[in-house]
Amino acid sequence: SPILVWLRDDLRLDDNPALAEACQTGRPVVVLFILEDEGPRPLGGAHLWWLHHSLTAFSEAIEKLGGRLILRRGSAAQIVPAVLEEASATALWFNRRYEEDAVARDDDIAAGLEDIDVQRFRAHILHDPSAVKTKTGNSYRVYTPFWKTLSASGEPREPLDPPKRIVPPAGKGPSSDTLAAWKLLPTRPDWSGGLGQAWTPGEAAARKSFEAFCEARLKGYDEGRDLPAEDATSRMSPHLRFGEISPFRLWHMAQTAAGHRKVPAGDLERYEKELVWRDFNYHLLTHFGPLAERNFDPRFDAFPWREAPEELKAWQQGRTGYPLVDAAMRQLWQTGWMHNRMRMVTASFLAKHLLIDWRLGEKWFWDTLVDGDPASNASQWQWVAGSGADAQPFFRIFNPMTQSRKFDPAGAYIRRFVPELADLSDKAIHAPWEEDTATLTRAGVRLGTTYPRPIVDHAAARARALDAFKTMQGEA
Ligand code: FAD
Repeated sequence: SPILVWLRDDLRLDDNPALAEACQTGRPVVVLFILEDEGPRPLGGAHLWWLHHSLTAFSEAIEKLGGRLILRRGSAAQIVPAVLEEASATALWFNRRYEEDAVARDDDIAAGLEDIDVQRFRAHILHDPSAVKTKTGNSYRVYTPFWKTLSASGEPREPLDPPKRIVPPAGKGPSSDTLAAWKLLPTRPDWSGGLGQAWTPGEAAARKSFEAFCEARLKGYDEGRDLPAEDATSRMSPHLRFGEISPFRLWHMAQTAAGHRKVPAGDLERYEKELVWRDFNYHLLTHFGPLAERNFDPRFDAFPWREAPEELKAWQQGRTGYPLVDAAMRQLWQTGWMHNRMRMVTASFLAKHLLIDWRLGEKWFWDTLVDGDPASNASQWQWVAGSGADAQPFFRIFNPMTQSRKFDPAGAYIRRFVPELADLSDKAIHAPWEEDTATLTRAGVRLGTTYPRPIVDHAAARARALDAFKTMQGEA
């Protein structure tokens, strides 16, 4: 009898344990994807764009193996039993999720099924969060000891090969929606042009792009990863988000490439450490969720956040008057992705310079990032805001000009995303308000007209943030 494989954030054939194991049995396999209307957290606009293209690619790949991807929309609690019945399936296999409400839903669905063989697999992260414990049997809250324990515990398992064939069920099988009917792509207005230029969703593209990274950029990654103007990182985050590529595959491909290409150990280890940061965020989500809603550090419940809708909008639109911050926010809007260091700078600017609740920033990122991740987005926002588990102290406030001069010294990143400043000199571009009018005029810049003046003064904003932090501590 058929096995129903319910895929979620794991739209790949390669190293997909639930799918691979099901196909191995030689039994008919029905592959299901549900667009869940009732949670987990509704997907953002950029996610939906990605999902459309990812499902298109995945559906074609499944068909090539003889199978068919069944698409359904609505409540998983109703759809899963219905599809099991339509397919006359006696087994439900899936890879685990980690958000609290998703886990609860999976448990409820499993509990409600009689005489169905339910099996769960680990595909999305390298380490099982419930198996990683401190010496005293607690969950880790700090990354470095988490990394040390894991790196001493041996290599992550080898990835599994993709199935060679999917045996379809007899007869016409369960009904499926069409992807077009889901209308996941933006139309009026269609803001997705920049995303289409920046990305090719799907498993094949993910693999190709990672091979190119290993070939050319793994060597030098440790240093290059901090420079936003360089294409120095792997850009695997959206592919990982939708499970188009497995972290196990990335781990082992990076190792093999490092061996072949004489990549310095520091570059490889840095890459592995970043993959483990992702795991660490899932560890926090599992043990201390819901991270996107609640301050990990409850003292922050008393933080005097400001209501400042106009300033929030200026931040979202890249009109703060701080060139590096604006370049990064525009990179996000145009391409659905932002460089890691820039995520730190812009998040710090919102929470500390503008004193706007980090949750509003997290939400904006969730809606606009193609890689908006339930664990990493929330956990990293809390890390920057100071309210997180392994948080940066609140008094460490990123100085946007220093960051700009250090990590974008020639202003190449700023010029790309804030073209109205492109003719300023390398020196002037980081803080145009410090220049005299003649210099600005020569570069075609009129502050307040062609480009905004800073919406807050850095020194005053810094002092205000430190005061607010003191008040909070006083109240706690
Ligand atoms: P690479 O440098 O090539 O790293 C390889 C992989 O390691 C990444 O794809 C990612 O899966 C993982 N990784 C790298 N850095 C981190 C990190 N700090 N935390 C967790 N995993 C990491 N990452 C997301 O995937 N989704 C998010 O929603 C997200 N939101 C963030 C919000 C803020 C405020 C900050 C500071 C960071 C956030 N990150 C998020 C982490 C990081 O910025 C991205 O993973 C990284 O920029 C993705 O680019 P890349 O794939 O080229 O990374």
